[in-house]
Amino acid sequence: MRDVVVIGSGISGLSTAFRLKKLGYDVVVYEKDDEIGGNIKTLSESGYTFELGPQTVLADEEVMEFFREVGVEPIVANPSSKNRYIYRRGKLIPLPLSPISFLFSPLLSFSAKFKVLREPWAPPPVKNEESVADFVRRRLGQEFLDYVVAPFISGVYAGDPENLSVRYATKKVYALEQEFGSLIKGALKKKSLGPGGRLISFEGGLFTLIEKLAEGLEIKKENVVLRIRRKEDRFVLDTREGKVDTRALVVSSPAYTASYLLKDLSWSASLEFDRIDYVPVVVVNVGVKKGSVPDGFGVLIPRKEGKRILGIIFSSKLFPGKAPEGRELLTIYLGGATDREVIELSEERILELVEKELKEVLGVEGIEFSHVKKWKRAIPQYILGYGKYLDLAREMEEVHKGLFLTGNYLSGISVADCIRFSKKTAERVAGFLG
Ligand SMILES: Cc1cc2nc3c(=O)[nH]c(=O)nc-3n(C[C@H](O)[C@H](O)[C@H](O)COP(=O)(O)OP(=O)(O)OC[C@H]3O[C@@H](n4cnc5c(N)ncnc54)[C@H](O)[C@@H]3O)c2cc1C
Repeated sequence: MRDVVVIGSGISGLSTAFRLKKLGYDVVVYEKDDEIGGNIKTLSESGYTFELGPQTVLADEEVMEFFREVGVEPIVANPSSKNRYIYRRGKLIPLPLSPISFLFSPLLSFSAKFKVLREPWAPPPVKNEESVADFVRRRLGQEFLDYVVAPFISGVYAGDPENLSVRYATKKVYALEQEFGSLIKGALKKKSLGPGGRLISFEGGLFTLIEKLAEGLEIKKENVVLRIRRKEDRFVLDTREGKVDTRALVVSSPAYTASYLLKDLSWSASLEFDRIDYVPVVVVNVGVKKGSVPDGFGVLIPRKEGKRILGIIFSSKLFPGKAPEGRELLTIYLGGATDREVIELSEERILELVEKELKEVLGVEGIEFSHVKKWKRAIPQYILGYGKYLDLAREMEEVHKGLFLTGNYLSGISVADCIRFSKKTAERVAGFLG
């Protein structure tokens, strides 16, 4: 009998397993694929080193401390990464970095700026739970939604602000209204509106973190868990290589897999988790000649501008060694909640439209290298009413002592969220095991 079985070797599972192992427990990780890391995948081809999933981690002090414990050295992104662009009317407009530059920026019209200045006097919400779009329209106006918030929601969730819950998808912004009654007042008091931290990666890309985490862990790859049953004070798992008994069980697979795994424990929970929407995302990495890519993090393209690309990250500008001499690496995102059909297109068609839009947006021509990755179920959507899934997870854990649910559909979707949540999960597992 094992102390703990962890299902899934994504960042949620591995960081929880790492912490538990460090506390002295006997831990084994089961992974269905022949590769570990889940969404975190770095490839090296033709002199380019590129990410198929997350590009960077926004690491606060707690996450930096975790990297020190793991023994990996983060590389902080080039300082020019603070420059981000929004594409509007055929131009790249720098996202204003200060209130003064905001007032003089061509990004928004005069009336949109005026609406933003009136934000502290915005009316209170009329609904119990608001969508991100309703919240932003009420406080900052439609243009701010279209040209600032919606592109950011695309960049983080590949989501639709009309459906996402402000309370669950943009917790920090929601908290500012709750605490200060105004985003501007709150941001001035806290000295920031966005999530703080440093943008990092590692030598060799984000997969270096996965490799380092895996070093001291027992991981059973290509070993899918098919079924979980409860027997007295333990769980019995059917895995590809046979049965395994464990006192504690951490399920860190996506919600749609947790759904079938939890079927024998609760039919209703299983049905509910299966309803969580994961939107598709297509990630295209391209290599182009150096020259026309500006310094900065990248550009977000508002849906209103009629392009299919959601955003482009200037990857080789962020970290050294991503592209060969004289070349740039760009990472392009398409799809999401507002363009699900793109996943059905052939790779050739995707590359054609990427080539066309890269020329229109950045003036970049002549793709010399390309790689297309299709994520059919990429990112869970924290939609209106999402609280019921979080409550359900806690109820399941209450009823089935020794069961712990984690993963980006519960912790928050960033890699940093998954790492922070793993601390809480490991502490709760340790509290249970004693
Ligand atoms: C395209 C893309 C870009 C992103 N960009 C960023 C970014 O720039 N910055 C950022 O912070 N975040 C980003 N994210 C989000 C972040 O990468 C994810 O939220 C995070 O990596 C999810 O980790 P996880 O461990 O919760 O889940 P996953 O990575 O999905 O891991 C779950 C694991 O469980 C395994 N599994 C499933 N079922 C079973 C089973 N029955 N038995 C055994 N194993 C099983 C799976 O194979 C998988 O390995 C991005 C995500 C995507 C898809």
